[in-house]
Amino acid sequence: MALQQYIRDIQDFPKKGIVFKDITPLLSSPEGTKECLSLLINSLNGKKIDKVVGVESRGFFFATLLAHELNVGFVPVRKPKKLPFTTISASYQLEYGTDTLEIHTDSIKKGDKILIHDDVLASGGTAKAVCELVERLGGEIVQCNFLMELTHLHGRKKLGNKEIFAALTYG
Ligand code: IMP
Repeated sequence: MALQQYIRDIQDFPKKGIVFKDITPLLSSPEGTKECLSLLINSLNGKKIDKVVGVESRGFFFATLLAHELNVGFVPVRKPKKLPFTTISASYQLEYGTDTLEIHTDSIKKGDKILIHDDVLASGGTAKAVCELVERLGGEIVQCNFLMELTHLHGRKKLGNKEIFAALTYG
């Protein structure tokens, strides 16, 4: 089955006017999950990765699978006050207001080669904040990858010259 058939459109979620891309049918399919994981792994072309950074919460699913497949550690980026050890934080603009993400200060060593993963690249604010956290800790970002990119929201523009890969694109 084609990968896009595992993604379900939910109208008016979480609020009216938004069409939410639901990845739960993908997660519930071992075939779809394997196919998607292969695409993400192959896109790295064998590049060396030391850590996979996953973004709360839907980014955690494939980030841990990627870390397992690459035989490297997983690092969570979480919403404020969820991580128990010392953290640094980065804030970013939402349509109305701001949001903040945090990472443990000991999670990345200077020069670590980092793969960042999240489920969706939309406006790019989330991914940009995660890149900032990783780089402040001295990590070198090898690639930012996503299950899907919503191209009409131009998230790539916020990520400068970072290497970006999405298993699916919607425009
Ligand atoms: P951005 O910061 O605008 O790029 O939004 C990306 C973040 O919002 C990701 O962490 C996604 O989990 C979430 N997100 C945005 N749109 C969707 C969607 O349609 N389905 C699932 N998550 C979404």
